[in-house]
Amino acid sequence: MATFKLIISADHEIFGNGSGDVMHCMVNPTNKLKVIADKFGAKITLFTDVCEYWVFEKKQPELAKSIKNQWIDFIKSNHDVQLHLHPQWLNYSFNNNNYELDYNLWRLPSVKSDNNDFGYGVKELIFNGKQTLESVLQKENKSYKSYAFRAGGWCIQPEEKVLETLISLDFKIDSTVAPEASYSNEKSWFNFKNSPQFPFWKVNKSILQPTNTGLTEVPIVTIKPGIFQNFFLLVDKVLKKHPQKPINCVGRAGLGKKSKLNKLKDALTPSYKMLNFSDGTTAKEMIYIASKYMKRFENETGEIPMVMIGHPKTFGNHEAFENFLEWAASNPKIEFSLYSDLKLEN
Ligand SMILES: [Zn+2]
Repeated sequence: MATFKLIISADHEIFGNGSGDVMHCMVNPTNKLKVIADKFGAKITLFTDVCEYWVFEKKQPELAKSIKNQWIDFIKSNHDVQLHLHPQWLNYSFNNNNYELDYNLWRLPSVKSDNNDFGYGVKELIFNGKQTLESVLQKENKSYKSYAFRAGGWCIQPEEKVLETLISLDFKIDSTVAPEASYSNEKSWFNFKNSPQFPFWKVNKSILQPTNTGLTEVPIVTIKPGIFQNFFLLVDKVLKKHPQKPINCVGRAGLGKKSKLNKLKDALTPSYKMLNFSDGTTAKEMIYIASKYMKRFENETGEIPMVMIGHPKTFGNHEAFENFLEWAASNPKIEFSLYSDLKLEN
């Protein structure tokens, strides 16, 4: 019988266009997340955007300090902090307390050493990101390692150079892939259609091509909901009206604003749904997705990772998350975990 290792991951950042207040949209809701998780002994992994941190260090050091203190607090209390990169911050301007970012750098593979203020290519970017986390956090815990990665906006493709760099820097895990998800507009794209149907797999050159050696891809849980089930979940969501954002957090999403019609279409007939703790998601939906995923792998033996994703900047549905954790804590097949708790042998 399989044991499901529930890994709750939070992309730790403000909005992708540089809007949103660091305290109200990032630090405070992340603290709230931790307080709720601690009630149940659940563990949180922050995928923290080091690119914006570097910019804050230069322009608003007091904000960088708050972020850094939050990393330290997480590491000291047995949660985790791992690497996330939003390279659009590498070419920025800062006027009247507002950031303008470079959407040509939205996708990690588009970073070249000559197209940003920092002079980084993909290699330097990942290397320096890892260094930043380790130099801060090894002071608190000598055994701390930056070993897991998630690309900003899921934009890891074309991934060969990124994977090569992660492997050469001794990263063990990538957790970017959301099976069946895909998206494309002028500046941003990802395509995880035809993902392997495994709970995890090793990758070398291609993120969707299982191999025998290399990095382990631990994907985000996605399921395809049944059409009626989806409708009932949607009705429940409308009735519950959980807040879509934290208190006092004002910000706009970056790229890829969908039209109202497309949003409605997606809501009614989604091709996939992620296991998401934020964005007004109800406890019922979180439990439905987790249960459906567990059903898929119930006959496996050993450990099955189950990665939940969410964003503190859209975390206002505290009660729903708490109810989900209460359910998970009482389920004997689920163990609250960090990526480092996984034994990742195929
Ligand atoms: Zn992100």
